[in-house]
Amino acid sequence: MAYLANISFWRGTLLLIAALSVLVGGTWSTVNHTTENLVQNYVKSTAREWAYFLADNVSDFQQIAAGEQPSAASMTFFQSAGRARRVFRYIIFNPDGYSLVVSDDDKVALVDLSELNETAAQASKSKAPVVNIRNGTTPDMPAAYGEAYVPAITNGKVVAVVGAFVDEGEARAVISSFTWRAAVALCGLTAFAFALPAIAWYRRTREKQAADRRIQFLAHHDPLTGLYNRARMIERLEAALAALPARGGLLALHFIDLDHFKHVNDTLGHDGGDFLLKTIGERLRAMTRIEDMVCRLGGDEFVVVQTVIGHRSEAAEFANRLISILRTPMYFKDQEICADLTIGVAIGPEDGMTPERLLKSADLALYAGKTAGRGCVRFFAAEMDAALQERLTLERVIRDAAEHDKFDVHYQPVYETSSHQLVGFEALARLNGPDGPIPPLVFIPLAEEIRLIDKIGAWILREACRTAAGWPRDLTVAVNLSPAQFESGQIEETVATALRDSGLAPNRLELELTESLLLRNSESTLATLRRLKEMGVSIVMDDFGTGYSSLGYLWKFPFDKIKIDRSFMESFEKAGRDVETVVKTIIALGRELNMRVTVEGVETPDQVDFLYDAEADQMQGFYFGRPMPATELSGDVLADFLKAHEAAMPSNHKPRLVVAGAKH
Ligand code: C2E
Ligand code: CA
Ligand code: CA
Repeated sequence: MAYLANISFWRGTLLLIAALSVLVGGTWSTVNHTTENLVQNYVKSTAREWAYFLADNVSDFQQIAAGEQPSAASMTFFQSAGRARRVFRYIIFNPDGYSLVVSDDDKVALVDLSELNETAAQASKSKAPVVNIRNGTTPDMPAAYGEAYVPAITNGKVVAVVGAFVDEGEARAVISSFTWRAAVALCGLTAFAFALPAIAWYRRTREKQAADRRIQFLAHHDPLTGLYNRARMIERLEAALAALPARGGLLALHFIDLDHFKHVNDTLGHDGGDFLLKTIGERLRAMTRIEDMVCRLGGDEFVVVQTVIGHRSEAAEFANRLISILRTPMYFKDQEICADLTIGVAIGPEDGMTPERLLKSADLALYAGKTAGRGCVRFFAAEMDAALQERLTLERVIRDAAEHDKFDVHYQPVYETSSHQLVGFEALARLNGPDGPIPPLVFIPLAEEIRLIDKIGAWILREACRTAAGWPRDLTVAVNLSPAQFESGQIEETVATALRDSGLAPNRLELELTESLLLRNSESTLATLRRLKEMGVSIVMDDFGTGYSSLGYLWKFPFDKIKIDRSFMESFEKAGRDVETVVKTIIALGRELNMRVTVEGVETPDQVDFLYDAEADQMQGFYFGRPMPATELSGDVLADFLKAHEAAMPSNHKPRLVVAGAKH
């Protein structure tokens, strides 16, 4: 069976047909042959029986056979016999084959050695019956009959030959019907015996073929959309690139990435996501020519290759068409889905002569498109490669630092304006790369992108709390939180753990957040903020006055503090009174809302004077001290500083407060 399973389906079917033909043909000829044999036997035995019957009942049989006239009794017997039997005619021959008595139905005729019958002579000579099957030639004869010549033997000597004409019609019908029935039954049994394995074979072969086809398909296609998969695309792209030099012209690879696919998956479920991908696949197929290739690389990434184009502009025109057609809204369970996408294009052979290089170029172009704000088409340019290398290096440094706690935290002092007192520090993350320090504004967004900010942020929080717990008095520590840290839903746990492990009182911890946090999913964010506040920590609105600056957020949540962005102090000297007015207004607003106001980026004595008059609650900036490592802020140093400072507290409102260890 295992061998049979390997025979191809068509060969197997042919084999089956051949076997059936042999079976039918063989049965047919066997039945005919058997019928013929049985009929002959029937004829022979009937004739023989008849011969013995004659010999037994005709007392002068031997004499008649020797040529004498039959007696009157024998004649009467001849006249009467024959009707009952199947023998419709009989002839008695002498041993040499000459007929003596011929009986036809009721007529009995005596013949006088009329003619020689060769067959009768042959039967006599061989001492064995000879049978011939004949067809009736006249209407009064049966349609088919057997002619049997039976030698009558006495004491080993043939005394006569009885030729009996046996009507085989009825017998043949019975025999034939019986043989056919037996044959059909046998065939049925044989067919049944063969059918079981044959059906099993047939089904197994069919299943195997279907499985083979499926495996073949899956090896080359994406199961969801039916488009080429990566392996098949690379294979075909390789061939297309190899054909380029001889054929001339260009080839364009469009790397398509859906923006916000995760959002569709999250809101409409996986069915919705699958529907979106399938629809995109169908649209792509409808838009391409037969010689082009459409492939799904996986996830929400598709590739379309225009195998023959004359000029770059054709690729640009096609990519723009892709964007506009793929953006057409689609409907899933009455929900409208709009696919936003970004396309990176690479042109062969100039942007890559191998599939891998071309794909990478298109991917770089795509990445550049995404950074530029998504929803656009970007062509590959050589400088993108350098930018990517830089990003990859940076990513590696961040991953390594997150893995091995290689970040540092620096602390920048914050002062109370009215009392000129040091009230606390802002913790700022620091990272050293192979070529020197990497600014937080570079590594923080990248850490957010590669989803490491949770881990890094938690470490910074722990570190800041631990350090602050060693400071004297009730100096506070402010820690910046990235919006991404609120997404994982673990921020409360992280804060609680940091406080518990360090033993820092919650009221000494301030969490600084920016408006952008409240832009997303603000209800659940506000709930989280409320719970954090209930824990006793202070919540600070950072960088106030930049970005979206919607005052509405100030009403939505009772922040403990507002931090006016340092850009105000940057333009203080230039913009003068306008900045003063805005800053004063924000301070007044904070007072109104019961929120303290800190101004950051304070660098000059004039700024300090102004903020003193404007009654800002707190100040922070290079004027008071730059961010510095914890080692320069040990508890002893701070305690000494605070003591010295209290003793030398100036009476006028011009603070000259420079923290010990602050080098600037
Ligand atoms: P930020 O929260 O506004 O932090 C204050 C930034 O202003 C710091 O920059 C600080 O060095 C700088 N600065 C302080 N005083 C002055 C001044 O008088 N003049 C000028 N020109 N700058 C001053 P830094 O350390 O480069 O941090 C930049 C930003 O990176 C921070 O802005 C914050 O948004 C982010 N960041 C820093 N550390 C962390 C962190 O641990 N977690 C998160 N999520 N973000 C952080
Ligand atoms: Ca801050
Ligand atoms: Ca700030």
